[in-house]
Amino acid sequence: MVENVNLGKGEDQASTPEKHINFVEEIINGHLKSGRFGQIVHTRFPPEPNGYLHIGHAKSIALNFSLAEKYGGLCNLRFDDTNPSKEESEYVDSIKADIKWLGFDWEDREYYASDYFEQLYAWAVKLIKAGLAYVCELSAEEGREYRGTLTEPGKHSPYRNRSIKENLDLFAGMRAGAFPDGSKTLKAKIDMAHPNFTMRDPVIYRILHDHHHRTGDKWCIYPMYDFTHGQSDSLEGITQSICTLEFENHRPLYDWFCEKLEIHHPQQIEFARLNLTYMVMSKRKFLTLVNEGHVSGWDDPRMPTISGLRRRGYTPESIRKFCEYIGVSKNNSVVDVTILENHVREHLNAVAPRVMAVLKPLKVVIENYPADKIENLEAVNNPEDETAGNRIVPFTRELYIDHDDFMEVPVKKYFRLAPGTEVRLRYAYIIKCESAIRDEAGNIVELRCSIDLDTLGKQPLDRRVKGVIHWVSADHAIDAQVRLYDRLFSVEHPDKVEEGEDFTSHLNPDSLEIIEHAKVEPSLLGVKASERFQFERVGYFSVDKDTTPEKPVFNRIVSLRDSWARITRNS
Ligand code: ATP
Ligand code: MG
Repeated sequence: MVENVNLGKGEDQASTPEKHINFVEEIINGHLKSGRFGQIVHTRFPPEPNGYLHIGHAKSIALNFSLAEKYGGLCNLRFDDTNPSKEESEYVDSIKADIKWLGFDWEDREYYASDYFEQLYAWAVKLIKAGLAYVCELSAEEGREYRGTLTEPGKHSPYRNRSIKENLDLFAGMRAGAFPDGSKTLKAKIDMAHPNFTMRDPVIYRILHDHHHRTGDKWCIYPMYDFTHGQSDSLEGITQSICTLEFENHRPLYDWFCEKLEIHHPQQIEFARLNLTYMVMSKRKFLTLVNEGHVSGWDDPRMPTISGLRRRGYTPESIRKFCEYIGVSKNNSVVDVTILENHVREHLNAVAPRVMAVLKPLKVVIENYPADKIENLEAVNNPEDETAGNRIVPFTRELYIDHDDFMEVPVKKYFRLAPGTEVRLRYAYIIKCESAIRDEAGNIVELRCSIDLDTLGKQPLDRRVKGVIHWVSADHAIDAQVRLYDRLFSVEHPDKVEEGEDFTSHLNPDSLEIIEHAKVEPSLLGVKASERFQFERVGYFSVDKDTTPEKPVFNRIVSLRDSWARITRNS
């Protein structure tokens, strides 16, 4: 893993002369100029349905779909389903739902590599007939031995020079189920001394008597990724096949198959994967997190899966903007997670209605306010959005404020409530604390206060009241569960571990705090899952899918400010 933290645009992007043109666009512009693919731009997003999509995939989705849109082209969705043992239709459904939610549309172009199995088989036969593929009987382990090392060339398999007829018969036998798993493979006959390992007679078909989520038991041989991907691109008329850097070594093989099969030849282009600080980004690791119970599932709001981010309350707009902002680059880097958090904060600041919610309720009794009086006060829904209008918040003698907004012995520059001091109650009056009441254990359980009845919505000239705190009416407040999510890992690079540890040793023990009895204003009665709000002075929250009409459940999306930055600065 590369360590530099990428705080802005990718380097390649910054260095290109034309503004807002990334290196992929430069390549496309070159193709349009040379006319290699005419004036067509046709991309695809090719997920393997073996897990849920994550924010890294969002980068690839945004790139492929946006390029198609920018150039007036098309983008396909293709499931790269060549591995029957790990793939499930549950994943196909979740992937489609996630891409739609992100706001991209593949229209009727939903393809499956498994739909091409017959054609791929015919192409394998074509290679055999051209003397470019053979059936090999080396075991996987022997195969590795024969491949040689970085410094030494490989050895020829003893099966390399079978006759074309024998290869055709054996390959037909493989398809017919005549041989057990692992006993034979079909290999491309390329060059065992090639400096690039992937060109040393790579396996292109293997025997797997396994049920496939789409083709059922029709096949017991399956093509390898390298023998599927480029050919699928070719069949769909893809022009630029954009993938991540780990496939750079595979490009010569991609090109070799297109050339030898004499088929439409797309251009493979590689870009750097997205990694985020305080996160892991691999389906395998997500499976560990889910299976070992560190999170509640693929859509746990702490997961960087699209479904996790959606449940947490992230907006698709903020994720798309984030992907645009980080840009594409050829250099592996780790993006600071605060950049993602800032994008959702910025979007929600513009669109989220404000409400008052008290997470740690402390009862306040206003001694000079009648017990039977209710005043309906007007509160602004969103100061950033004039069209959002106002709502009513009831004001009564008994209120809740947040425990953190009271200090018995105030520290310097504490502008909230303390014995004898005044603050403004948001949208309401100036309040003064007269006394604090304790329980038997000595904890403060209630404040006795008074209000200045002349100060409703007015700032008296004779005194300066700096603090403004939020509150809810004790009689009207709704009891809510609030889930305070924090980063899942407590270190910037959880993948970096000491010997004998794995990434789970860096899990943040405080990544979830559940508040059972928060008090929220009555306008939140009847909220629906996935609605989002700003709890004034606290943060942005979304309604979780576990919510009920009796008891709303809220997830913290992000705090109002980057609290981790503050912690690091002060410590
Ligand atoms: P993982 O490592 O999480 O298992 P993967 O690469 O195996 O991911 P695929 O389903 O094969 O997942 O990926 C589909 C597409 O998304 C590929 O083109 C892949 O290159 C791209 N992709 C995967 N992870 C990232 C990432 N972190 N950043 C950008 N693109 C990614
Ligand atoms: Mg993969």
